[in-house]
Amino acid sequence: MKLRNKLSLTFAMVVLFTVALLALLSNLFINSEFKKYIAAQQEQSARDIVALIGAQYGGAGSWDLGMVNSIGLKAMEAGFIVTVYDNEQNILWDAIQCDMAGCMKVINNIEARMRQQYPHMKGEFTSRDYTIMRQGVAVGTAKISYYGPYFLSDNDSNFLRSLNTVSFSVGLTCLILSIAVGLYMSKRISEPISKAASAARRMSNGDYTEHIEAENDTAELTELVDSVNHLSKVLSYQESLRKQLTADVSHELRTPVTSMQTHLEAMLDGIWEPTRERLESCYEEAARIGSLVKDLEALARIEADGFSLNKDWISLKKLWSKTINIFELELEDKNLSVTLDGDAREIFADEERIQQVAVNLLSNAIKYTPDGGIINITLTETKYHVLFSVADDGIGIPGNEIPFIFERFYRAEKSRNRKMGGAGIGLAIVKSIVLAHGGEVKADSFPDKGSVFTVTLPNG
Ligand code: ADP
Repeated sequence: MKLRNKLSLTFAMVVLFTVALLALLSNLFINSEFKKYIAAQQEQSARDIVALIGAQYGGAGSWDLGMVNSIGLKAMEAGFIVTVYDNEQNILWDAIQCDMAGCMKVINNIEARMRQQYPHMKGEFTSRDYTIMRQGVAVGTAKISYYGPYFLSDNDSNFLRSLNTVSFSVGLTCLILSIAVGLYMSKRISEPISKAASAARRMSNGDYTEHIEAENDTAELTELVDSVNHLSKVLSYQESLRKQLTADVSHELRTPVTSMQTHLEAMLDGIWEPTRERLESCYEEAARIGSLVKDLEALARIEADGFSLNKDWISLKKLWSKTINIFELELEDKNLSVTLDGDAREIFADEERIQQVAVNLLSNAIKYTPDGGIINITLTETKYHVLFSVADDGIGIPGNEIPFIFERFYRAEKSRNRKMGGAGIGLAIVKSIVLAHGGEVKADSFPDKGSVFTVTLPNG
């Protein structure tokens, strides 16, 4: 069943149940209160009739029988059958004797109406005797019969009927409204969900192009739509990186492989003498491929690990001394001097990875600094961070290229760098590792003046 139908159905069911319950309870309550009220009213009417008859006593056994007659007839019309006796039990006035046909009509009407409206009520005409009092003295008895425990006049039953009609119409209106609102609400809720679902399906088929637009003010749904959009962006970015990587790798490999192939071919065909120089050139190309593969391996390892870091407390000063030692030969070869200044407290980090950062930065500094240059490594700390910078007085990087040097395969002034052997992966590795530690890395550089790479790492 579709979410939308399910939601609207549930909504309608809940409202239907509530409205039905409300209508039932209010009906029961109103009916029972109304009946009590009517019963009390009838009892009061009977007493009023008795009091009115009492007022017709003229004293010394005399009655205004004309008035008693009209009171009795009026009472009969209202459903009260009256018989009046004097103190000696003589009948003074009797409704049945007076107007038998009228009485029967009233009785039959009331009985028929009550039986129709309340078939389960066991009502019947009952009589009660009331003592007629006049100035505190009993002057006779009135026997009053009416349909009990209560009966409804035409007006009363009309009133009840319109009350029921009103509650039924209110219930029906609520139900229709609730169905309309339910349909609208469930459409609003289900729309972004189904859009997100179909976007996810498209993504699983490799289509990351579509951006879902779903107007909604429900926080969770907005979050869902945003997450799906973000996911599609990330996947599409990764997809383009993957394609880019393949293109870059083949491009990087093509040059050395072609050059090696043509050289070797020429030597095999006897066009070229296999001199030491030519063999050395082939060896250099092979070495270039070797180092590219090594870089790629390092990058792949870092990215494949999902940056699981093996953290421990490490001293940056010790780490840098070790790193400088690794490059002793190269430094001597190029007659470069290295200084290590400052200090910083220990940080909680992955030693091997941070060492890799140091190695990459120092090897770049060595690579891009001409013979006799100076490299300064400085350690500092702030309240929440420790920093190290690697400054050289080498060839520098053009300002417009600085934003790109941390991207894979990016080499500033490409022609110049192919000579130097880098594949443009070292700084991408540096950036990945530093970001994985929650830190940041930046470069400042001026062509022919030198470069400074600064890494900031959080304490913990
Ligand atoms: P590569 O293997 O080419 O050195 P990197 O990712 O380490 O790749 O560096 C990217 C580019 O940034 C380099 O090709 C180079 O142009 C520039 N670069 C990096 N470090 C320095 C530096 N210390 N001095 C000058 N240029 C640098």
